[in-house]
Amino acid sequence: MKTEMMAAVLYGKENLQVEPVAVPKIDKGDLLVRVKVALTCGTDVKVFRRGYHARMIVPPAVFGHELAGDIVACGEGVTKFSIGQRVVAANSAPCDRCYFCSRGMENLCEDLLFNNGAYAEYIRIPARIVERNTYEIPFDVSYQDAALVEPLACVLRGLEETGIRAGDTLSIIGLGPIGLMFVRLAKLFGARVIAIGRRKTQLDRAAAAGADEMISTEKSSRPATAVRNLTNGRGTDVAIEAVGNPETWNWAVDMVRRGGTVNFFGGCPNDSRVSLDTSLLHYSEITCKASFHHTPHYVRKALDIICNRDIRACDFVNREEPLANLLEVMRHLMSHNGHLKTAIFP
Ligand SMILES: [Zn+2]
Ligand SMILES: [Zn+2]
Repeated sequence: MKTEMMAAVLYGKENLQVEPVAVPKIDKGDLLVRVKVALTCGTDVKVFRRGYHARMIVPPAVFGHELAGDIVACGEGVTKFSIGQRVVAANSAPCDRCYFCSRGMENLCEDLLFNNGAYAEYIRIPARIVERNTYEIPFDVSYQDAALVEPLACVLRGLEETGIRAGDTLSIIGLGPIGLMFVRLAKLFGARVIAIGRRKTQLDRAAAAGADEMISTEKSSRPATAVRNLTNGRGTDVAIEAVGNPETWNWAVDMVRRGGTVNFFGGCPNDSRVSLDTSLLHYSEITCKASFHHTPHYVRKALDIICNRDIRACDFVNREEPLANLLEVMRHLMSHNGHLKTAIFP
């Protein structure tokens, strides 16, 4: 067994290095996984740009959180898994003991354990994640497809939390990988989807993913009006914001129907504020909610969707690079919006 490996270490703002580090040691209940693919994520790009994340990672630290790979070592007491199995592990696991966990809100766990280090040859999966959020990948599902499980679990939870039903109309603002996943899933739920984005490539991708109508924010400065024009003036049953910008949070409220539900899915920069029309919220009985992260239930469900071939990596990943190029990949993703995910091969 090797004792050194190549891994990306995040040192701070726009500062990361792919360098030799020690292969992680595993403890009781842990797994050591040879990473076969890691996927870039909007959150990683955000962390790279800002140099920190309040909850997920404190630099200097190994980096990356969407991965699939092969088990190369099992800690003492591991009974669910064995060496050689292909697995996918989520990036966190709840404690199962706190106030929030006991109420089924494991995503808000007071002691949510995060794991980073996917951009590396090997990653340690801590016992709690092994127990709660790690799954064997069926032989006919690729590593790349399986690695989508974490973002998909977040999106699936965000969509179900809106109470959407077949026949409903949903508007989605923002057509990055997350927005596109909303389009695909909403279509699977039997909804009519209005996709709102800036770039033509994004609108084309949304159409390919099944969106029924597209609104370009380059052509239409008032997307809420455009949405109302498409819904007999009523607005959509559900509006989802997947940008993370106070202005687009407001758009979402403006385009939902009376009694409809808004999900502020995109997290805005720290200290952002929005001011909302109170009469509109009150007299139109608009439900505003936000979704953060995932729970073990949705990780399991997301993997089932992937195993059914309903969500495929080819629709969300459009570039493949070796680990050595990660710095360049992050810089590129940071300066060019409108990209899908990059698959990194360590
Ligand atoms: Zn992610
Ligand atoms: Zn907890």
